[in-house]
Amino acid sequence: MSDFTGKVKQLLIDQKNNWPTARKNYSELENVQVRVFDFDGFQIKVQFNPARIISSSAKVDQQSIASRKCFLCAENRPAEQQQLTFGNYEILVNPFPIFPEHFTIPRISHVPQFIPGKIGDMLDLAKALPDFTIFYNGPKCGASAPDHFHFQAGKKGFMPLESEIEFLKENKGIKRSENPVDIWAIKDGIRDFLFMESSGKEDVESCFNSIYEKLSDLNEHAGEEPMMNILAGFENGKWQVFVFPRFRHRPWQYFEEGEKNILLSPASVDLGGVLITPMEKDFSKITKVDIADIFHQILWPEDKFNLLVEKLF
Ligand SMILES: [Zn+2]
Repeated sequence: MSDFTGKVKQLLIDQKNNWPTARKNYSELENVQVRVFDFDGFQIKVQFNPARIISSSAKVDQQSIASRKCFLCAENRPAEQQQLTFGNYEILVNPFPIFPEHFTIPRISHVPQFIPGKIGDMLDLAKALPDFTIFYNGPKCGASAPDHFHFQAGKKGFMPLESEIEFLKENKGIKRSENPVDIWAIKDGIRDFLFMESSGKEDVESCFNSIYEKLSDLNEHAGEEPMMNILAGFENGKWQVFVFPRFRHRPWQYFEEGEKNILLSPASVDLGGVLITPMEKDFSKITKVDIADIFHQILWPEDKFNLLVEKLF
């Protein structure tokens, strides 16, 4: 275990000891219910997690954001919350966990969620914390604090996609092999996404920048960050980065009333194969058809994704 990983794990142990909210929520997570759905060569899990109601139903419109105190700024955080510093970032225990080890990693200064220029920081975190997957939710793609730049880190081994990627690369992907970065366009039937792998940090950065540029060219909301979720890990001396181009913030089911309502606000972890629902009614009723439908709505339509791949490959 790297020194830094050890420190981060110790932070979680300390916070469970001295912060009742963290202790309660991590302990409840041990009994959380999970359903598993088998797709064609991969799985999607559904986690019933009542403590996530705050995040799943977070109002992230400008007015709501402007009228609340930013919970990632040091001066507004709970008195019990401790931090570790990592460059321009602070590592905090997430008190409303999805993962058995779950951290929020805000930038020290209050700047908006905006990924250009920061992918290198994400890669540094992935390398410093090889037991974790680092993830980024774009401002309209699941981030509950779009006004304060942050990553998150979750224990590896939790999201099925981390281990399924080898199968998906072989069986559901097209590869562009161009030293020094290999890129795959993967279509697994419910998710279309890009996957990059390389041992060169700067190479991954410049490859991401070129993807970002093409996403921007195809972006329907000119001037805004193209909607996306990103997962990054460091495995066997290589960085692995998943980029999910997003089309919608939330599926229609989110806004329905009554029976058709499903309170699900998908973000990186959902795309990594663990859907989080804070409501028992949704946990019980959700089907494979709903899952495929929700992913189809929130990710890029196939024709648009094909266009991106054409531009990239
Ligand atoms: Zn802030």
